[in-house]
Amino acid sequence: MKKYFATTPIYYVNDVPHIGHTYTTVAADVITRYWKQKTYDARLLTGTDEHGAKIAEAAKKHSKKPKQYADEISDKFKEAWKSLNIDYVRFIRTTDEDHIRIAQDFLQKLYDRGAIDPKPRLYKGLYCVGHEKFMSKEELVNGLCPDHQTKPIEHSEENYYLKLSNYTQQLEEVISTDKLKIRPISRKNEILGKLKQGVEDISISRANLEWGIQLPFDKSHTSYVWIEALINYYTYGSQNGVWPADLHLVGKDILWFHTIIWGTMLLAIGEGLPKEVFAHGFFTINGQKMSKTIGNVISPQDLVAKYGVDGARYVLLAAFPFGEDGDFSWDALNRIYNADLANGLGNLVARIYRLFTNHTFNHKLKSATGENNIRVESYKSLIEDLQFSVALKIIRKEIKDLDIEINNAKPWELGTNEQKAFLQRIVPRILLIADLLQPFLPQTAEKILKQFSGQVKSSAPLFPRI
Ligand SMILES: [Zn+2]
Repeated sequence: MKKYFATTPIYYVNDVPHIGHTYTTVAADVITRYWKQKTYDARLLTGTDEHGAKIAEAAKKHSKKPKQYADEISDKFKEAWKSLNIDYVRFIRTTDEDHIRIAQDFLQKLYDRGAIDPKPRLYKGLYCVGHEKFMSKEELVNGLCPDHQTKPIEHSEENYYLKLSNYTQQLEEVISTDKLKIRPISRKNEILGKLKQGVEDISISRANLEWGIQLPFDKSHTSYVWIEALINYYTYGSQNGVWPADLHLVGKDILWFHTIIWGTMLLAIGEGLPKEVFAHGFFTINGQKMSKTIGNVISPQDLVAKYGVDGARYVLLAAFPFGEDGDFSWDALNRIYNADLANGLGNLVARIYRLFTNHTFNHKLKSATGENNIRVESYKSLIEDLQFSVALKIIRKEIKDLDIEINNAKPWELGTNEQKAFLQRIVPRILLIADLLQPFLPQTAEKILKQFSGQVKSSAPLFPRI
């Protein structure tokens, strides 16, 4: 059985799940289900990132132990993914015992192979607590961290360093030749450009921070949270025979970490590189940055309550091209839902189903194969390139064409035999659509299959209009 291993980022437990996490996770689930449907042993890994000063502080604020705090938030992620029918193989937490062990082995290997300095270096600089990292002067805007709007603190500490600069040539070669494929292409070019400007070694540890994974070669230090978090993919992959990953799906803000830093770490210990790292874009809500202060944060629960499980999965990925920046608004999502699902697919199925219930068929109607069908072929290759919204346009066209065919044929005016013949021609095409949409709409696809195999005698609308 061929393998396919995809990952979402593991989400930091300083925040409860929102539409941003949902967007990435649904996309990862769709592509994994696609390969599963093609009978691959396809697995999706997701989870939570739980260490670091920020979590320790947040826990303290809530008068909780860090682990207890992390338990509560990570449960919220699990609930969210359950409500969206995310079919992951494991929910990994960086506080899991096996992760801690494997992360430590990994760090020891980096040390033994000379990728980490033998002794810590003293570093003085401006440190953003929100980012949990030192910021360069160039990154600040009016002396403030542009993301957190806070003034970084003067800070000096001894840190161990990962010698990124030793691996730049190798990285340039694997990235430019797509051995480590970065998509979209524009992002690949950005990373290559940045790499050409030269990279500095980075600090990978903090002294005297308890809430983290201890460096095996110096127990007075814990791993910088980003570094050990990256290893989570390997923790699962290496123990289950699926390393290297086929796809790391990330937001563009963490692409550098997932290509240059993660790439260096893997090259340094002689492990395989992920085959592809795909960065999706940023989005706004009604044209504004999502923020608690503005009060425009959308939760996965909001989406499911409004559109149902499948509806929520669909509207997110249909809204704008995956990989590009875009905007979400309730108006736009409502329009997509009504046009594509309520009036589109839902209405088509209901029309044909009404005719279908008048007849009994001696042999079961099967899905059309889609072989040698140009539309189906291009749909599939678009999905494989993660061009979800473009792929869905093809289905929309197919649904529209079927509607026109039905209008022209007026099957309700035909005699019994002609009606049967018509259904024998049309139903397999609807089943094919259900089949193609299965990664997006797993429950709906199943319902449609059951309806047309006579297992369901009557049916509520698949997608009630909003
Ligand atoms: Zn910051």
